[in-house]
Amino acid sequence: MSEGKIAAPLRDLLKKYKNVDCVMAEVVDFDVIGRRVIARRVGGDRIEFGYDDLIVAAGVRQSYFGHDEFARWAPGMKTISDALAIRRRVYGAFEMADTAVDPEERRSWLTFALVGAGPTGVELAGQIREVATKTLRAEFRNIEPEDARVLLFDGGSAPLAVFGPKLSQKADKALQALGVEQHMGSIVTHVEQGGVLVRDQAGVQTRYDVGTVLWTAGVEAPPIAGALANATGAKRDRAGRILVEKNLTIPGHPEISVLGDMMSLAKLPGVAEVAMQSGLYAGNRIRRQASGDLAEKPFRYRDLGSAAYISRGRAVVSAGPLRVGGFMGWVIWLFIHIAFLTGYRNRLGALLTWWLAFTRDIRRERTFTTQQIETLRDVYTVPASAETPAPPPEALADGPSGD
Ligand SMILES: Cc1cc2nc3c(=O)[nH]c(=O)nc-3n(C[C@H](O)[C@H](O)[C@H](O)COP(=O)(O)OP(=O)(O)OC[C@H]3O[C@@H](n4cnc5c(N)ncnc54)[C@H](O)[C@@H]3O)c2cc1C
Repeated sequence: MSEGKIAAPLRDLLKKYKNVDCVMAEVVDFDVIGRRVIARRVGGDRIEFGYDDLIVAAGVRQSYFGHDEFARWAPGMKTISDALAIRRRVYGAFEMADTAVDPEERRSWLTFALVGAGPTGVELAGQIREVATKTLRAEFRNIEPEDARVLLFDGGSAPLAVFGPKLSQKADKALQALGVEQHMGSIVTHVEQGGVLVRDQAGVQTRYDVGTVLWTAGVEAPPIAGALANATGAKRDRAGRILVEKNLTIPGHPEISVLGDMMSLAKLPGVAEVAMQSGLYAGNRIRRQASGDLAEKPFRYRDLGSAAYISRGRAVVSAGPLRVGGFMGWVIWLFIHIAFLTGYRNRLGALLTWWLAFTRDIRRERTFTTQQIETLRDVYTVPASAETPAPPPEALADGPSGD
Protein backbone atom coordinates (compact mmCIF):
# COMPACT_ATOMS: atom_id res chain seq x y z
CA MET A 1 0.00 0.00 0.00
CA SER A 2 1.10 3.59 -0.42
CA GLU A 3 2.23 5.43 2.69
CA GLY A 4 -0.67 7.88 2.33
CA LYS A 5 -3.13 5.03 2.79
CA ILE A 6 -1.59 4.18 6.16
CA ALA A 7 -0.46 7.43 7.78
CA ALA A 8 -2.81 10.39 8.02
CA PRO A 9 -1.43 13.91 8.65
CA LEU A 10 -1.67 14.75 12.37
CA ARG A 11 -2.66 18.33 11.47
CA ASP A 12 -5.67 17.04 9.59
CA LEU A 13 -6.66 14.61 12.35
CA LEU A 14 -6.42 17.30 15.02
CA LYS A 15 -7.69 20.34 13.13
CA LYS A 16 -10.97 20.42 15.10
CA TYR A 17 -9.10 20.88 18.39
CA LYS A 18 -8.16 24.56 18.46
CA ASN A 19 -6.05 24.08 21.61
CA VAL A 20 -3.73 21.58 19.87
CA ASP A 21 -0.73 22.69 17.83
CA CYS A 22 1.57 20.45 15.78
CA VAL A 23 5.24 21.40 15.37
CA MET A 24 7.71 19.68 13.04
CA ALA A 25 10.86 19.63 15.20
CA GLU A 26 13.08 17.16 17.04
CA VAL A 27 13.11 17.36 20.83
CA VAL A 28 16.72 17.16 21.97
CA ASP A 29 16.67 18.02 25.69
CA PHE A 30 14.60 18.98 28.71
CA ASP A 31 15.00 21.71 31.32
CA VAL A 32 12.92 20.10 34.06
CA ILE A 33 13.56 22.89 36.59
CA GLY A 34 12.51 25.67 34.23
CA ARG A 35 9.89 23.27 32.75
CA ARG A 36 10.97 23.75 29.16
CA VAL A 37 11.33 21.39 26.21
CA ILE A 38 14.29 22.14 23.95
CA ALA A 39 13.90 21.23 20.31
CA ARG A 40 15.56 21.78 16.96
CA ARG A 41 13.73 22.74 13.83
CA VAL A 42 14.66 20.51 10.94
CA GLY A 43 17.82 22.17 9.66
CA GLY A 44 19.12 23.01 13.15
CA ASP A 45 17.54 26.17 14.67
CA ARG A 46 16.78 25.82 18.37
CA ILE A 47 13.23 26.37 19.63
CA GLU A 48 11.81 25.97 23.13
CA PHE A 49 8.40 25.35 24.63
CA GLY A 50 7.21 25.81 28.22
CA TYR A 51 4.96 23.24 29.90
CA ASP A 52 2.91 22.54 33.02
CA ASP A 53 2.55 18.83 32.28
CA LEU A 54 4.76 16.94 29.86
CA ILE A 55 4.03 13.69 28.03
CA VAL A 56 6.93 12.00 26.26
CA ALA A 57 6.01 9.23 23.81
CA ALA A 58 8.89 9.05 21.32
CA GLY A 59 8.60 5.33 20.60
CA VAL A 60 11.56 3.01 20.00
CA ARG A 61 13.98 2.50 17.11
CA GLN A 62 15.73 -0.51 15.63
CA SER A 63 18.55 -1.90 17.73
CA TYR A 64 21.62 -3.49 16.17
CA PHE A 65 22.91 -4.55 19.61
CA GLY A 66 25.90 -2.21 19.48
CA HIS A 67 26.61 -2.77 15.77
CA ASP A 68 25.03 0.30 14.18
CA GLU A 69 27.40 -0.18 11.23
CA PHE A 70 25.17 -3.10 10.13
CA ALA A 71 22.37 -0.61 9.38
CA ARG A 72 24.03 0.37 6.11
CA TRP A 73 23.56 -3.13 4.68
CA ALA A 74 20.60 -4.26 6.76
CA PRO A 75 17.84 -1.64 7.03
CA GLY A 76 15.41 -1.98 9.91
CA MET A 77 11.63 -1.74 9.69
CA LYS A 78 10.57 1.07 11.98
CA THR A 79 9.74 4.13 9.93
CA ILE A 80 8.03 4.97 6.65
CA SER A 81 11.48 5.67 5.19
CA ASP A 82 12.55 2.17 6.27
CA ALA A 83 9.50 0.60 4.64
CA LEU A 84 10.12 2.46 1.37
CA ALA A 85 13.82 1.52 1.45
CA ILE A 86 12.90 -2.14 1.99
CA ARG A 87 10.45 -2.13 -0.91
CA ARG A 88 13.12 -0.55 -3.11
CA ARG A 89 15.72 -3.12 -2.08
CA VAL A 90 13.41 -6.12 -2.52
CA TYR A 91 12.17 -5.21 -5.99
CA GLY A 92 15.63 -3.83 -6.84
CA ALA A 93 17.23 -7.18 -5.98
CA PHE A 94 15.16 -8.97 -8.63
CA GLU A 95 16.17 -6.33 -11.19
CA MET A 96 19.85 -6.74 -10.26
CA ALA A 97 19.54 -10.52 -10.56
CA ASP A 98 17.93 -10.13 -13.98
CA THR A 99 20.92 -8.25 -15.41
CA ALA A 100 23.66 -10.20 -13.59
CA VAL A 101 25.84 -12.23 -15.97
CA ASP A 102 27.75 -14.13 -13.31
CA PRO A 103 25.57 -17.00 -11.93
CA GLU A 104 27.07 -16.52 -8.42
CA GLU A 105 26.07 -12.87 -8.41
CA ARG A 106 22.62 -13.74 -9.69
CA ARG A 107 22.17 -16.33 -6.93
CA SER A 108 23.27 -13.81 -4.35
CA TRP A 109 20.72 -11.20 -5.53
CA LEU A 110 18.03 -13.86 -5.38
CA THR A 111 18.87 -14.63 -1.75
CA PHE A 112 17.26 -12.58 1.03
CA ALA A 113 18.18 -12.77 4.73
CA LEU A 114 15.77 -11.75 7.47
CA VAL A 115 17.28 -11.25 10.90
CA GLY A 116 14.68 -11.82 13.64
CA ALA A 117 11.68 -14.18 13.52
CA GLY A 118 9.24 -11.96 15.42
CA PRO A 119 6.03 -10.66 13.81
CA THR A 120 7.82 -8.22 11.47
CA GLY A 121 10.51 -10.68 10.33
CA VAL A 122 7.99 -13.46 9.74
CA GLU A 123 5.66 -11.15 7.81
CA LEU A 124 8.50 -9.84 5.63
CA ALA A 125 9.78 -13.36 4.94
CA GLY A 126 6.31 -14.49 3.87
CA GLN A 127 5.79 -11.39 1.74
CA ILE A 128 9.07 -11.79 -0.16
CA ARG A 129 8.25 -15.40 -1.01
CA GLU A 130 4.76 -14.33 -2.11
CA VAL A 131 6.14 -11.54 -4.29
CA ALA A 132 8.60 -14.03 -5.81
CA THR A 133 6.14 -16.83 -6.45
CA LYS A 134 3.02 -14.84 -7.31
CA THR A 135 3.45 -11.14 -8.12
CA LEU A 136 6.65 -11.40 -10.21
CA ARG A 137 6.09 -14.93 -11.48
CA ALA A 138 5.53 -14.06 -15.13
CA GLU A 139 7.42 -10.77 -15.43
CA PHE A 140 11.09 -11.66 -15.95
CA ARG A 141 12.77 -13.27 -18.95
CA ASN A 142 16.28 -14.00 -17.61
CA ILE A 143 15.50 -15.25 -14.10
CA GLU A 144 12.89 -17.36 -12.38
CA PRO A 145 11.72 -15.13 -9.50
CA GLU A 146 10.36 -18.19 -7.66
CA ASP A 147 13.98 -19.38 -7.28
CA ALA A 148 14.39 -16.62 -4.67
CA ARG A 149 15.62 -18.02 -1.36
CA VAL A 150 14.45 -16.41 1.86
CA LEU A 151 16.57 -17.24 4.92
CA LEU A 152 15.05 -16.44 8.31
CA PHE A 153 17.54 -16.28 11.21
CA ASP A 154 16.70 -16.14 14.90
CA GLY A 155 18.60 -16.96 18.07
CA GLY A 156 15.45 -18.53 19.63
CA SER A 157 14.07 -21.97 18.98
CA ALA A 158 10.94 -21.09 16.95
CA PRO A 159 9.34 -18.31 14.91
CA LEU A 160 6.76 -16.08 16.64
CA ALA A 161 7.83 -17.53 20.00
CA VAL A 162 5.90 -14.82 21.92
CA PHE A 163 2.64 -16.33 20.64
CA GLY A 164 3.23 -19.60 22.53
CA PRO A 165 4.07 -23.11 21.25
CA LYS A 166 0.77 -23.86 19.48
CA LEU A 167 0.70 -20.75 17.27
CA SER A 168 4.46 -20.83 16.88
CA GLN A 169 4.14 -24.31 15.37
CA LYS A 170 1.45 -23.09 13.00
CA ALA A 171 3.73 -20.25 11.93
CA ASP A 172 6.55 -22.74 11.40
CA LYS A 173 4.37 -24.92 9.14
CA ALA A 174 3.05 -21.91 7.20
CA LEU A 175 6.60 -20.64 6.62
CA GLN A 176 7.71 -24.08 5.44
CA ALA A 177 4.79 -24.22 3.00
CA LEU A 178 5.85 -20.84 1.64
CA GLY A 179 9.40 -22.06 1.12
CA VAL A 180 11.04 -19.86 3.78
CA GLU A 181 14.26 -21.49 5.03
CA GLN A 182 14.25 -21.18 8.81
CA HIS A 183 17.53 -21.09 10.73
CA MET A 184 16.51 -21.08 14.37
CA GLY A 185 19.12 -21.04 17.15
CA SER A 186 21.28 -18.97 14.80
CA ILE A 187 22.73 -15.58 15.64
CA VAL A 188 23.82 -13.17 12.92
CA THR A 189 27.18 -11.90 14.11
CA HIS A 190 28.26 -9.79 11.14
CA VAL A 191 26.66 -8.06 8.17
CA GLU A 192 28.59 -6.71 5.21
CA GLN A 193 27.90 -5.92 1.59
CA GLY A 194 26.84 -9.17 -0.04
CA GLY A 195 26.82 -11.43 2.99
CA VAL A 196 26.14 -12.32 6.61
CA LEU A 197 28.08 -14.36 9.14
CA VAL A 198 25.93 -16.63 11.29
CA ARG A 199 26.83 -18.56 14.45
CA ASP A 200 24.77 -21.65 15.28
CA GLN A 201 24.19 -23.19 18.71
CA ALA A 202 27.28 -25.39 18.39
CA GLY A 203 29.34 -22.22 17.86
CA VAL A 204 30.00 -22.95 14.18
CA GLN A 205 30.23 -19.81 12.00
CA THR A 206 28.84 -19.94 8.47
CA ARG A 207 28.93 -17.26 5.80
CA TYR A 208 25.89 -16.84 3.56
CA ASP A 209 26.07 -14.85 0.31
CA VAL A 210 22.99 -12.65 0.31
CA GLY A 211 22.14 -9.65 -1.82
CA THR A 212 19.57 -8.23 0.60
CA VAL A 213 19.56 -8.29 4.40
CA LEU A 214 16.65 -6.93 6.43
CA TRP A 215 17.00 -6.46 10.18
CA THR A 216 14.04 -6.82 12.55
CA ALA A 217 15.85 -8.30 15.53
CA GLY A 218 15.55 -5.79 18.34
CA VAL A 219 14.45 -2.39 19.56
CA GLU A 220 15.92 0.32 21.76
CA ALA A 221 14.73 3.68 23.05
CA PRO A 222 15.78 6.71 20.97
CA PRO A 223 18.47 9.17 22.25
CA ILE A 224 15.80 11.45 23.69
CA ALA A 225 15.14 8.82 26.39
CA GLY A 226 18.75 9.25 27.55
CA ALA A 227 18.31 13.04 27.69
CA LEU A 228 15.13 12.63 29.73
CA ALA A 229 16.81 10.18 32.12
CA ASN A 230 19.75 12.59 32.60
CA ALA A 231 17.43 15.51 33.26
CA THR A 232 15.15 13.68 35.72
CA GLY A 233 17.32 10.93 37.22
CA ALA A 234 14.86 8.34 35.83
CA LYS A 235 16.03 4.74 35.59
CA ARG A 236 16.05 2.87 32.29
CA ASP A 237 15.69 -0.82 31.39
CA ARG A 238 18.12 -2.78 29.18
CA ALA A 239 16.55 -1.40 26.02
CA GLY A 240 16.88 2.16 27.35
CA ARG A 241 13.16 2.59 28.03
CA ILE A 242 12.17 4.80 30.97
CA LEU A 243 10.90 3.04 34.10
CA VAL A 244 7.65 4.69 35.17
CA GLU A 245 5.38 4.62 38.24
CA LYS A 246 1.98 2.96 38.13
CA ASN A 247 0.47 6.32 37.10
CA LEU A 248 2.96 6.40 34.18
CA THR A 249 4.94 9.35 35.59
CA ILE A 250 8.66 9.48 36.32
CA PRO A 251 9.48 8.95 40.03
CA GLY A 252 9.85 12.39 41.68
CA HIS A 253 8.31 14.11 38.63
CA PRO A 254 4.51 13.82 38.75
CA GLU A 255 4.36 16.43 35.97
CA ILE A 256 6.20 14.17 33.45
CA SER A 257 4.56 11.06 31.96
CA VAL A 258 6.26 8.61 29.61
CA LEU A 259 3.97 6.48 27.45
CA GLY A 260 3.77 3.85 24.75
CA ASP A 261 6.79 1.97 23.47
CA MET A 262 9.21 4.27 25.33
CA MET A 263 7.89 3.43 28.79
CA SER A 264 8.95 0.42 30.80
CA LEU A 265 6.24 -0.91 33.13
CA ALA A 266 5.49 -4.46 34.24
CA LYS A 267 6.95 -5.96 31.02
CA LEU A 268 4.09 -4.55 28.93
CA PRO A 269 4.72 -5.27 25.24
CA GLY A 270 5.56 -2.60 22.67
CA VAL A 271 2.24 -2.72 20.85
CA ALA A 272 -0.27 -0.16 19.65
CA GLU A 273 -2.87 -1.08 22.30
CA VAL A 274 -0.45 -0.25 25.13
CA ALA A 275 0.37 3.07 23.44
CA MET A 276 -3.29 3.97 22.88
CA GLN A 277 -4.47 2.94 26.35
CA SER A 278 -1.57 4.70 28.09
CA GLY A 279 -2.30 7.86 26.05
CA LEU A 280 -5.94 7.79 27.05
CA TYR A 281 -5.04 7.22 30.69
CA ALA A 282 -2.50 10.09 30.84
CA GLY A 283 -4.82 12.52 29.04
CA ASN A 284 -7.67 11.74 31.43
CA ARG A 285 -5.40 11.92 34.46
CA ILE A 286 -4.09 15.38 33.54
CA ARG A 287 -7.57 16.65 32.69
CA ARG A 288 -8.98 15.44 36.01
CA GLN A 289 -6.11 16.99 37.96
CA ALA A 290 -6.53 20.31 36.13
CA SER A 291 -10.16 20.33 37.24
CA GLY A 292 -9.09 19.79 40.88
CA ASP A 293 -9.81 16.03 41.15
CA LEU A 294 -6.60 14.71 42.72
CA ALA A 295 -7.80 11.11 43.34
CA GLU A 296 -5.70 8.71 41.28
CA LYS A 297 -6.14 5.18 39.98
CA PRO A 298 -3.12 3.28 38.68
CA PHE A 299 -2.87 2.51 34.95
CA ARG A 300 -4.40 -0.85 34.16
CA TYR A 301 -3.73 -2.44 30.77
CA ARG A 302 -6.58 -4.38 29.17
CA ASP A 303 -4.89 -6.99 27.00
CA LEU A 304 -7.01 -7.34 23.86
CA GLY A 305 -4.60 -9.88 22.40
CA SER A 306 -2.15 -9.83 19.51
CA ALA A 307 -2.07 -10.90 15.92
CA ALA A 308 0.66 -11.57 13.36
CA TYR A 309 0.36 -11.86 9.59
CA ILE A 310 2.30 -14.62 7.81
CA SER A 311 1.03 -14.62 4.25
CA ARG A 312 -2.16 -14.41 2.27
CA GLY A 313 -4.77 -16.51 4.06
CA ARG A 314 -2.49 -17.26 7.00
CA ALA A 315 -2.15 -15.36 10.27
CA VAL A 316 -2.12 -16.13 13.98
CA VAL A 317 -4.26 -14.46 16.63
CA SER A 318 -3.93 -14.82 20.38
CA ALA A 319 -6.58 -13.22 22.59
CA GLY A 320 -7.22 -14.43 26.15
CA PRO A 321 -7.68 -18.22 25.96
CA LEU A 322 -8.31 -18.01 22.19
CA ARG A 323 -5.54 -19.23 19.84
CA VAL A 324 -6.48 -19.06 16.17
CA GLY A 325 -4.24 -19.75 13.18
CA GLY A 326 -4.65 -20.28 9.43
CA PHE A 327 -7.47 -18.73 7.44
CA MET A 328 -9.65 -17.77 10.43
CA GLY A 329 -6.67 -16.06 12.02
CA TRP A 330 -6.12 -14.18 8.78
CA VAL A 331 -9.75 -12.98 8.60
CA ILE A 332 -9.54 -11.70 12.19
CA TRP A 333 -6.16 -10.04 11.47
CA LEU A 334 -7.63 -8.34 8.42
CA PHE A 335 -10.64 -7.05 10.32
CA ILE A 336 -8.51 -5.66 13.19
CA HIS A 337 -6.05 -3.92 10.89
CA ILE A 338 -8.68 -2.32 8.72
CA ALA A 339 -10.82 -1.29 11.70
CA PHE A 340 -7.90 0.49 13.36
CA LEU A 341 -6.68 2.43 10.30
CA THR A 342 -7.20 6.17 10.67
CA GLY A 343 -10.07 7.58 8.63
CA TYR A 344 -12.75 5.89 6.52
CA ARG A 345 -10.94 6.76 3.27
CA ASN A 346 -7.87 4.84 4.39
CA ARG A 347 -10.05 1.89 5.39
CA LEU A 348 -11.77 1.81 2.00
CA GLY A 349 -8.44 2.26 0.20
CA ALA A 350 -6.85 -0.57 2.19
CA LEU A 351 -9.79 -2.87 1.45
CA LEU A 352 -9.56 -2.22 -2.28
CA THR A 353 -5.75 -2.54 -2.47
CA TRP A 354 -5.69 -5.73 -0.41
CA TRP A 355 -8.61 -7.16 -2.36
CA LEU A 356 -6.65 -6.78 -5.61
CA ALA A 357 -3.46 -8.11 -4.03
CA PHE A 358 -5.17 -11.12 -2.45
CA THR A 359 -7.45 -12.13 -5.30
CA ARG A 360 -5.48 -11.19 -8.42
CA ASP A 361 -1.82 -10.95 -7.34
CA ILE A 362 -1.85 -7.27 -8.26
CA ARG A 363 0.48 -5.05 -6.26
CA ARG A 364 0.23 -1.52 -7.54
CA GLU A 365 2.75 0.22 -5.28
CA ARG A 366 5.94 -0.84 -7.02
CA THR A 367 7.42 2.41 -8.24
CA PHE A 368 10.98 3.00 -7.08
CA THR A 369 14.18 4.60 -8.29
CA THR A 370 17.70 3.65 -7.30
CA GLN A 371 18.85 7.29 -7.16
CA GLN A 372 17.04 7.89 -3.89
CA ILE A 373 19.54 5.81 -1.96
CA GLU A 374 21.70 7.73 0.55
CA THR A 375 21.34 11.37 -0.38
CA LEU A 376 20.78 13.85 2.46
CA ARG A 377 19.85 12.91 6.03
CA ASP A 378 16.68 14.91 5.48
CA VAL A 379 15.36 17.30 2.89
CA TYR A 380 16.10 20.52 4.81
CA THR A 381 19.73 19.70 5.66
CA VAL A 382 22.14 21.96 3.81
CA PRO A 383 24.55 19.76 1.81
CA ALA A 384 28.25 20.12 2.70
CA SER A 385 29.03 21.31 -0.84
CA ALA A 386 26.66 24.28 -0.41
CA GLU A 387 28.28 25.29 2.92
CA THR A 388 31.83 25.24 1.48
CA PRO A 389 31.97 27.41 -1.64
CA ALA A 390 33.76 25.81 -4.55
CA PRO A 391 37.35 27.09 -4.99
CA PRO A 392 37.90 29.60 -7.81
CA PRO A 393 39.00 28.08 -11.15
CA GLU A 394 42.61 29.42 -10.82
CA ALA A 395 43.06 27.54 -7.50
CA LEU A 396 41.96 24.35 -9.23
CA ALA A 397 44.47 24.95 -12.03
CA ASP A 398 47.32 24.90 -9.46
CA GLY A 399 46.22 21.64 -7.88
CA PRO A 400 46.92 18.12 -8.98
CA SER A 401 45.52 17.13 -12.31
CA GLY A 402 42.32 15.16 -12.31
CA ASP A 403 43.66 12.58 -14.77
C1 LIG B 1 6.60 -2.72 11.21
C2 LIG B 1 5.79 -2.60 12.48
C3 LIG B 1 4.62 -3.31 12.59
C4 LIG B 1 3.86 -3.21 13.75
N1 LIG B 1 2.70 -3.92 13.82
C5 LIG B 1 1.94 -3.83 14.91
C6 LIG B 1 0.72 -4.54 15.00
O1 LIG B 1 0.33 -5.24 14.06
N2 LIG B 1 -0.03 -4.43 16.14
C7 LIG B 1 0.39 -3.63 17.18
O2 LIG B 1 -0.32 -3.53 18.19
N3 LIG B 1 1.55 -2.96 17.14
C8 LIG B 1 2.34 -3.03 16.03
N4 LIG B 1 3.52 -2.33 15.97
C9 LIG B 1 3.94 -1.58 17.15
C10 LIG B 1 3.25 -0.22 17.21
O3 LIG B 1 3.45 0.47 15.99
C11 LIG B 1 3.85 0.59 18.37
O4 LIG B 1 3.69 -0.14 19.55
C12 LIG B 1 3.18 1.94 18.53
O5 LIG B 1 3.29 2.70 17.34
C13 LIG B 1 3.84 2.71 19.67
O6 LIG B 1 3.29 3.99 19.74
P1 LIG B 1 4.12 5.18 20.38
O7 LIG B 1 3.21 6.36 20.30
O8 LIG B 1 4.66 4.79 21.69
O9 LIG B 1 5.38 5.39 19.44
P2 LIG B 1 5.45 5.67 17.88
O10 LIG B 1 4.21 5.27 17.17
O11 LIG B 1 6.74 5.05 17.45
O12 LIG B 1 5.53 7.24 17.79
C14 LIG B 1 6.65 7.94 18.28
C15 LIG B 1 6.77 9.24 17.50
O13 LIG B 1 7.72 10.07 18.15
C16 LIG B 1 8.53 10.68 17.17
N5 LIG B 1 9.81 11.04 17.81
C17 LIG B 1 10.81 10.22 18.19
N6 LIG B 1 11.82 10.93 18.74
C18 LIG B 1 11.43 12.23 18.71
C19 LIG B 1 12.04 13.44 19.13
N7 LIG B 1 13.24 13.46 19.69
N8 LIG B 1 11.37 14.61 18.91
C20 LIG B 1 10.15 14.61 18.32
N9 LIG B 1 9.51 13.48 17.91
C21 LIG B 1 10.15 12.31 18.10
C22 LIG B 1 8.65 9.62 16.09
O14 LIG B 1 9.01 10.23 14.86
C23 LIG B 1 7.26 9.03 16.08
O15 LIG B 1 6.42 9.71 15.19
C24 LIG B 1 4.28 -2.40 14.82
C25 LIG B 1 5.47 -1.67 14.71
C26 LIG B 1 6.22 -1.77 13.54
C27 LIG B 1 7.49 -0.98 13.43
